[in-house]
Amino acid sequence: MSENGMSQQTLPSQDAGVERQTMDVDIVCVGFGPAMGGFLTTLARGLTNPDGTPAVESRAMPGMPPQVVCYERADDIGFGVSGVVTRARGIRQSFPDLDLSQIPLAAPVAHETVAYLLDPIGASRRSPLLRLADRCIRAFRGRLPYEHEALRLPYVPPFLRKDGGLLFSIGQFNQWVGAQVMGTGVVQIWPGMPVAKPLWEDGRVGGVRLTDQGTDLHGRPEAGFLPGMDIRAALTVIGDGPVGPIGRQIDEKLGLPEGHHRREWAVGAKVVVDLPEHSTLGPGTVLHTFGYPEPEIFGFLYVYPGRIASAGIFVPSWFDSPVRTSYRYLQHWMLHPYLWRHLSGGRLRSWGAKTLQESGKRGEPHLAGNGFVRIGEGSGSTNVLTGSGVDEAWTTGVLAAQGVLELLRVGQPFTKENLERAYIARRRVSWVEAEGRVAEKARDGFTRGVVSGLVGMALAGLTQGRAAVPGKSLPPAKRLPAIEEYYAGRIAPEEIARIRQDCAARGLSLHNALMDRCGWPAIPHDGQLLVSHQDALLMGGKVQAPPGYADHVVFLYPNLCETCGTKLCIEMCSGQAITAGDKAVPAFDRDKCVHCGACLWNCAVSHPDDPERSAIEFRGGTGGLHSAEN
Ligand SMILES: Cc1cc2nc3c(=O)[nH]c(=O)nc-3n(C[C@H](O)[C@H](O)[C@H](O)COP(=O)(O)OP(=O)(O)OC[C@H]3O[C@@H](n4cnc5c(N)ncnc54)[C@H](O)[C@@H]3O)c2cc1C
Ligand code: SF4
Ligand code: SF4
Repeated sequence: MSENGMSQQTLPSQDAGVERQTMDVDIVCVGFGPAMGGFLTTLARGLTNPDGTPAVESRAMPGMPPQVVCYERADDIGFGVSGVVTRARGIRQSFPDLDLSQIPLAAPVAHETVAYLLDPIGASRRSPLLRLADRCIRAFRGRLPYEHEALRLPYVPPFLRKDGGLLFSIGQFNQWVGAQVMGTGVVQIWPGMPVAKPLWEDGRVGGVRLTDQGTDLHGRPEAGFLPGMDIRAALTVIGDGPVGPIGRQIDEKLGLPEGHHRREWAVGAKVVVDLPEHSTLGPGTVLHTFGYPEPEIFGFLYVYPGRIASAGIFVPSWFDSPVRTSYRYLQHWMLHPYLWRHLSGGRLRSWGAKTLQESGKRGEPHLAGNGFVRIGEGSGSTNVLTGSGVDEAWTTGVLAAQGVLELLRVGQPFTKENLERAYIARRRVSWVEAEGRVAEKARDGFTRGVVSGLVGMALAGLTQGRAAVPGKSLPPAKRLPAIEEYYAGRIAPEEIARIRQDCAARGLSLHNALMDRCGWPAIPHDGQLLVSHQDALLMGGKVQAPPGYADHVVFLYPNLCETCGTKLCIEMCSGQAITAGDKAVPAFDRDKCVHCGACLWNCAVSHPDDPERSAIEFRGGTGGLHSAEN
């Protein structure tokens, strides 16, 4: 029993009586995404002189340049998930002579469109106001830029435009950056090496511990047990993204700054598609949509060279469905006539899902402390007004590296005070900070509904953040209605009970049954582009996990799961890795987990000790998607 009286699932301590190897380096880095790309690119250039001699000396290995090691969880440095359109201001500053032909799938932005998608089948859960708007649009379609059940906005608001920007696949970009960084010879990047925890030493972070290998699913040593190594460093740089377990462990220890919270998230689900031969979409085309399949769901389609497109949706935290799904909604979105005319006849190349941290500036943690700095999306850099995070993450990495080089050159230690002066001060006067402030309240209106949310975004964007629609956000578990409440007026409680019973007996997914009942048509699987969720995992995601590691998704309070009515974690799981288990406690299959992090916040209950957390823990783990095209 824990202090709060709940029975918490106990896990074997990774420390108990285990002898660990230790390695001393100067700087250890967690995660290799765009933020770390910016950090390592800038750092590597400053560590050596033009003649190749060390510009500063290592403390861990005197006479050598500083030893810098970066550990990435995924099995390759190019296994990220994102479709990227970006203004690329920070990236271009780092690479003034950037030659796009060196990065597969990259293209300059050529044409941008924003479209409102009407509901062509009548199953979407629209408010009376939105239904009225749809009727008016249809009535005046002849005089409006209306085509294929969509209203094209006459212009793209300036704050959303990506003029002069770039389109790229994050996987290909990360691979290219990684090759540049490792080519300098002063930085090592190790994929397939998840970090388990930060090492605390007298109130400072003194490095990290890697995950144990050769364990059972509960972390208990088995034959071939290899305890995770302790990597001790003067500085730990944390760029582990939106659901990064190292950043969150630091937050759990230090708390967030006063007034900050991380209640807004979204799950991005996407495909990479070979467009059909008849496609007229040219490279550089950017299409953003909103309004369908549910009004809360945003969509994107970017066209790369070679008739390849990256397309997907975001299912946000303010979409309060207790049986939400991203995979089926992604397919309904693709089937919307406005998009299907471009996609029909296409072929699935790849599929992926990943969480976005949508609290932006308000989700900013303590950016630095004794021995550590935070960069990238996990540091609150993502702009929630423009939905862009890559260039912002990159730039925070660049700023951190500039600060670190400054301290290295004058031989000052990585104390909180020094890092505040060298890194945080740079960040406070940067464009990332200025634009993050403009965006800070942009999405508050969504807590009241979609229309107020959209009005709030427009207001914030057009007034440079001076005006916004106010709203009070709640932790996700506090927002979720019961299934009966959510479907009130559409499906009677007795019928819901019958559907639930039937799904439980036949092992079927509840969200599918309820969507069918609300009039969503079956997906016409074609084995080529529209494939079952399982096929997407095999064909498009190529998911796998090496044996010998502990489960990284843990249900902390089995007794809470037993009484949980919605089992949202099962419905929302992007990889179908969470399923109904024994005694109503979900089961987790790490072989299917795509590491999207959605389960972390798609839980129907709060952590008994901390209402801002859920009853699921998401730890550092191996495996996931094996596609470098996302
Ligand atoms: C579907 C989708 C579409 C998007 N579209 C756009 C867009 O068009 N434009 C845009 O600008 N942004 C977009 N974004 C957001 C953008 O991808 C992120 O803001 C950006 O990737 C953040 O970079 P990062 O380096 O901070 O984190 P990440 O890219 O998340 O990188 C963090 C890395 O840390 C690793 N890691 C995590 N935990 C550990 C651990 N314990 N040990 C070792 N490694 C670990 C992860 O595997 C990951 O590789 C999109 C996101 C999604 C999901
Ligand atoms: S993890 Fe959360 S959503 Fe899933 S069954 Fe347990 S309490 Fe319910
Ligand atoms: S179990 Fe894995 S695939 Fe499923 S929601 Fe959690 S992180 Fe995503």
